[in-house]
Amino acid sequence: MSEQKVSRLGPWVERPFPPLLPEIVPFWEGLRRHEFRLVKCRRCGACYYPYTVCVRHADIPDFDEMEWAPTSGRGTVFAHLTVHKVVDPAFQPDLPYVLALIELDEGPLFATRIVDCDPQDVRIGRRAAVKYHDVPGQDRTLPFFVLQD
Ligand SMILES: [Zn+2]
Repeated sequence: MSEQKVSRLGPWVERPFPPLLPEIVPFWEGLRRHEFRLVKCRRCGACYYPYTVCVRHADIPDFDEMEWAPTSGRGTVFAHLTVHKVVDPAFQPDLPYVLALIELDEGPLFATRIVDCDPQDVRIGRRAAVKYHDVPGQDRTLPFFVLQD
């Protein structure tokens, strides 16, 4: 059994976050409850991120027909890159780290960081799932992802 790798996070993670736009607040409230929410069309069930209206209908639904709903928090790696150098020293302890687009099982692409792995193990098509990181001292949870297979 291989040793469990846990990513380090620099002091950037404890910086205050900028104010949230009101339309994205339910997403972040879900993360606090360890719930991965996407905005879902009440007519057809299509999921989106970030907040928008459904484009699958001839008459575009309005925002009243979209709702934030819990989803699987799972998907596959769609694209990734490894960061080896940073300008801001607050990110230095994290190096190297992996930025990725996850194609969620519900459809949308989600930009995140893949943590707790050797960056060389990240491949397009690998399964990944959300890992909730509760930021110490803040009422905020970050949605990182970890490899699943
Ligand atoms: Zn729809």
